[in-house]
Amino acid sequence: MNTEIQRRIDHLAAINRVASAVGQSLDLETTLQTALDAVLEVTPVEAAGISLVDEDAGELVLRAQRGWKGDFISEPMRVPLGTGISGQALIHDRVLITGDVSDDPRLAVPEFADEGVQAMALVPMHARGRVVGLLSVMSYRPYEFGEDEIGVLGNIADQVGVALDNARLYEDAKEQSSRLRAVLDSSGDAIIATDCRGTINLVNTAAEPLFDLQNGEIVGMSLHHAPLHPRLREGLQSALVGDRDSNTVYEVTLEDGRFLSVIVSPVLLQSPSATAHDCKGWVIVIRDVTHLHEAEQTRIDFIHAAAHDLRNPLGVTLGALAMLQRDLGDITDLQREVIEIGIQGANRMQELIDNVLNLEHIESGVGLRYKPIDVRELLERGIVDIQPALQQRDQTLVVAVPDELPPLVGDMHWLYRALLNLLTNANKYTPAGGEISLGAYVQEDDLVIEVKDNGPGIPPDVQTRIFERFYRGPSSDQRVRGSGLGLAIVKSVVEQHGGRVFVQSQENAGSTFGMVFSLPDMARRAADAGLDADFD
Ligand code: ADP
Repeated sequence: MNTEIQRRIDHLAAINRVASAVGQSLDLETTLQTALDAVLEVTPVEAAGISLVDEDAGELVLRAQRGWKGDFISEPMRVPLGTGISGQALIHDRVLITGDVSDDPRLAVPEFADEGVQAMALVPMHARGRVVGLLSVMSYRPYEFGEDEIGVLGNIADQVGVALDNARLYEDAKEQSSRLRAVLDSSGDAIIATDCRGTINLVNTAAEPLFDLQNGEIVGMSLHHAPLHPRLREGLQSALVGDRDSNTVYEVTLEDGRFLSVIVSPVLLQSPSATAHDCKGWVIVIRDVTHLHEAEQTRIDFIHAAAHDLRNPLGVTLGALAMLQRDLGDITDLQREVIEIGIQGANRMQELIDNVLNLEHIESGVGLRYKPIDVRELLERGIVDIQPALQQRDQTLVVAVPDELPPLVGDMHWLYRALLNLLTNANKYTPAGGEISLGAYVQEDDLVIEVKDNGPGIPPDVQTRIFERFYRGPSSDQRVRGSGLGLAIVKSVVEQHGGRVFVQSQENAGSTFGMVFSLPDMARRAADAGLDADFD
C-alpha cells in the first residue's frame, strides 16, 4: 500500500483511539496515557509529555511523561505560566517547534538541558476556547516535524483538552454531590428524593432505618415498590399524584407508638421560556415527632382536667345570667346590653369547653356508633348547613361527586362535624367572592373527601402545626374567630375511623384539606361490627 496512505490511516487510527478513550472514560490518567501512546505511534520521536495549566498556582505542571531520560513526574516539573519555552507556546497560543534546546536561554528548568533534546514540538491543548495545557513531543535526534504530523498532534492535544475539562467538571460535580450528601447526612430528619415519577434517587442516612433494607439498595426503586412502612407509602402515593405546585403534609402513627410527620414538596424549576413550573421530582422529609406528641399529651391532660372543672361553674354562671335577663324586669338598655355581653362571652367559653370535651370523647372512642354511611348524604348535609355562611360572603361552592361511591363505615355525627369544620374553615379564611370546592373520590384503595379553597394558603412551616390543638396560624387574624380546635377535631375523628388527614397548600393560591379512609380497613371494621356494608 502507498506509504502516504498508510501514514494517513495510522494518523486517523491514533486520533480515533484518543477520541474513544475520551468518550469512554472520565478517568484522566487513562486518557493521558492513551494520548501519549497515540502520539508516539504517529511520530517517529522518542518522548512525549502532557502538562496542564494550574490557574490557581499560576503554573504549568507536567502530568504525564513517556520515553523521557529523567523522571520529571515524581516531583512534577512546574514552570510559572508565561515563562520558559513553554510560556512562548502558551502566550501566543501557537505550536512552537525548536531544535536543540540544551543552550536555549529561555529554558526555565535547568535540569531539562540534560535531556539532550534535539527537536521538540509544543502543541497547546484547548477546551471551551481556552488553552488548558501543552502537549510536548521530543526527539533525541535531529528531526523535522511535518505539517500533517503537527495537524494530528493538534487534534490529539485538543481531545485531551476536552477530556481534561470533562474530568474537571466531573470532579466538581462529584465534590458538590458529596458536599450535598454530607449536609443531608448530618440532618436528623429522614430525607428521600425522587424523580418526577417517584423513582428514588437519594436517601440520607437518617432515612435508612425507615426501610427494610434487607432487600438491598432502594435507590433506583419506585416508591410504590420500595420496602417502606405501608402507612408511609400510602400517604406518599397520594401526595405524588396530587397538586404538583404544593406541599403535602401528613402524619403517620407506627405500631411501636412513634409519630412521624411527613412533608412532601415538589422540586420546581422555573423554565426560562415559560412561566409554567416544571416538576423535577419530589423531596420527602420525615421527622420523628413522638416527643412533641408526648409534650402535647401533657398539655391535653391538663386542658381536659381544666375543662372538666370549668364546666359546672360555667353552667351555673350561664344559668344565673339567663335568670337575670328573664326576671330583672325594668332595666335600662345599657344594663340589658351588659347582660347580653356576659351571656355571649359565657356561651363562647361553653363552646370552647365543649370542643375540648368533644375531643376527649372522640379520642376515647367510647359511644361512637359505626354504621354504613352514604357519602353523598354526608356531603349533602354539609352543603346545606354551610350554604348560609357562603351566601353571606358571596362565595361559590363547586361540588364534584361521582354517582357511585362506596359507603363509609363510621359515626355520622362525628364525620359530619369533621366535614363541617373543613367547610367552615374554607368559608372563614377565603376572602369574600372566593371559590370553595367539595369533592369525594376513590383513589386506589382509599376513599377521599376533599375541601379545597382559593384563599390565602398556609405557609409551609405552619402546615405541620395546624392540626395541633389550639394552634392558630398567621392567616387567622383578629377578624376570623376560632379556637384552634377545628382541625384537631377533624384529625381525631378521621384517625378514629382508621384514616388520615392531609393538607396541600401554597401561599396566596389556596389550600386543600383531605380526609382519607382506607376501604379495606373499613370493610374489616364493618365485618368486625357485624355490619352489612356493600363493599365490592
Ligand atoms: P381555627 O380556625 O379555630 O383557628 P383550626 O384548627 O380550624 O382553628 O385551624 C388552625 C389554623 O389553620 C387556623 O388558625 C388557620 O391559620 C389555618 N387554616 C385552617 N383552615 C384554613 C384554610 N382553609 N385556609 C387558610 N388557613 C387555614
